[in-house]
Amino acid sequence: MTKTRASHFINLGPANRIIAIDTLSKTVTCEPSVTMEELVDALLPYNLVPAVVPEFKWLTVGGILAGAGLESSSFRYGQFGDLLIEATYILSNGQIIICSPTKNSDLFYRALGACGTFGLLIRATLNVLEVKSDCFVRCNYFRTNQPMENLTSLLQHDYVDAIVFSDYTVIITGERIDKLKLPKTAKIQTFSKAWNPWYYQHIKAVHSKSNLTMITEYVPLKDYLFRYDRGAFWMGRYIINPLQDKVQCYPRYIRNLLNLFPFGGYNILSRTLLAPIITTFSLYKRLHASPMSTIAETLFFQDIYIPKSKAKEFLTFLQSGTFFMEDGGILEPIWLCPIRSTLTSQKLSPHFWKNDRNDDQSFIDFGLWTHQSNWQIGSCSVRHATKALEEEAMRLGGRKMLYAHSYYSRDQWFSIYDVEWYKAMKRKWDPDYAWGDLYDKLISY
Ligand SMILES: Cc1cc2nc3c(=O)[nH]c(=O)nc-3n(C[C@H](O)[C@H](O)[C@H](O)COP(=O)(O)OP(=O)(O)OC[C@H]3O[C@@H](n4cnc5c(N)ncnc54)[C@H](O)[C@@H]3O)c2cc1C
Repeated sequence: MTKTRASHFINLGPANRIIAIDTLSKTVTCEPSVTMEELVDALLPYNLVPAVVPEFKWLTVGGILAGAGLESSSFRYGQFGDLLIEATYILSNGQIIICSPTKNSDLFYRALGACGTFGLLIRATLNVLEVKSDCFVRCNYFRTNQPMENLTSLLQHDYVDAIVFSDYTVIITGERIDKLKLPKTAKIQTFSKAWNPWYYQHIKAVHSKSNLTMITEYVPLKDYLFRYDRGAFWMGRYIINPLQDKVQCYPRYIRNLLNLFPFGGYNILSRTLLAPIITTFSLYKRLHASPMSTIAETLFFQDIYIPKSKAKEFLTFLQSGTFFMEDGGILEPIWLCPIRSTLTSQKLSPHFWKNDRNDDQSFIDFGLWTHQSNWQIGSCSVRHATKALEEEAMRLGGRKMLYAHSYYSRDQWFSIYDVEWYKAMKRKWDPDYAWGDLYDKLISY
């Protein structure tokens, strides 16, 4: 059976004005198409920054509020949506509604994560944080073989995330530090220049060159916030080194040989000359220009929030070999980002905490982005892997960020999300389903 689905595209125009910055109340009001980089650039001159800055420069305020967004400060502040204090929506009948925690609060909380299915966001006011615009982040790179135990005991910092490599994990903690307080011997590292290393490659390199379990360096704040932008975490490697998957099973010295060739792998020449096409913005343009079937069948992109108490079990599942059975390979690298749950009624957000659970109320986001050489169009391997992941995450009480392919059956969907509540909200705010239904919008067939 072929299923079809109507799509409606709305051109928001530029809609990228910063409307107001209030240094006294520490808030910013802006239009929905303002990107994370534009927001940070507008706020830093006032010594302000959003407490959570999802790490790709071009992600927009509207897209993140309607979808989801987190960062290494999320263990303290939650999602980007938790910074919201007022939002303005256009309903499908043309009515303009202003909402906040005290005014139309059901729409305020529940439009977060609803992917635009209640209304079109046209304006948002967000809380921001006071920082020194020229400050640095002192990054400690801590190598461990016990990521979960360590990750959850390091939460006194400003930033915490981790990268799981095949043979060890590096936990990264960060503290904002005044420029004037930088130690004289401080090692300064940047990530924004074309010739700079990609962040995950850098982390790997500093640890492979040293026997120390902890290495410290200092990164300018904006470089830190967008450290994963160049190379899009590690997705850029499939462009810079298309052979990467195929040589994974060869010994390390053979893999390293590839890096000696100017365009044969990741090196200063290739990443400098190919810089314009390996920004996240450029990689996404290529992604969106690809046929949906190619994306669905060759790329595995998922972010999945697992309750902290179950995170170790989930990591074991990912690394067990039962997940990627076809070539016996394991998923590597994996991004881990701890995130505080929300107790507000953001029923569609991945960090929504159902009241019936009373264990530790936080999650670990698992960022899983890969492409395996044996995944061919028509093989359904990615679909099988995604379904296996969805089932395991459901079993452990986890939720996905809903930006990627999902294959939940209606029964599974009903067990994760409160569908009766969703229908009641639709009756109130979009009775004709002009903005579509969330399940129909997101589920792949
Ligand atoms: C490979 C990959 C890696 C990712 N990694 C991370 C990560 O590490 N951290 C992180 O925080 N996020 C990550 N994301 C997720 C990303 O933050 C979300 O997908 C986010 O929602 C995308 O924002 P966008 O601006 O691109 O919006 P879009 O993708 O354009 O839109 C997202 C949703 O919001 C709706 N929408 C957009 N604008 C409006 C509006 N004005 N009013 C109402 N609805 C609207 C759209 O219809 C759509 O349903 C990743 C995504 C991918 C594909």
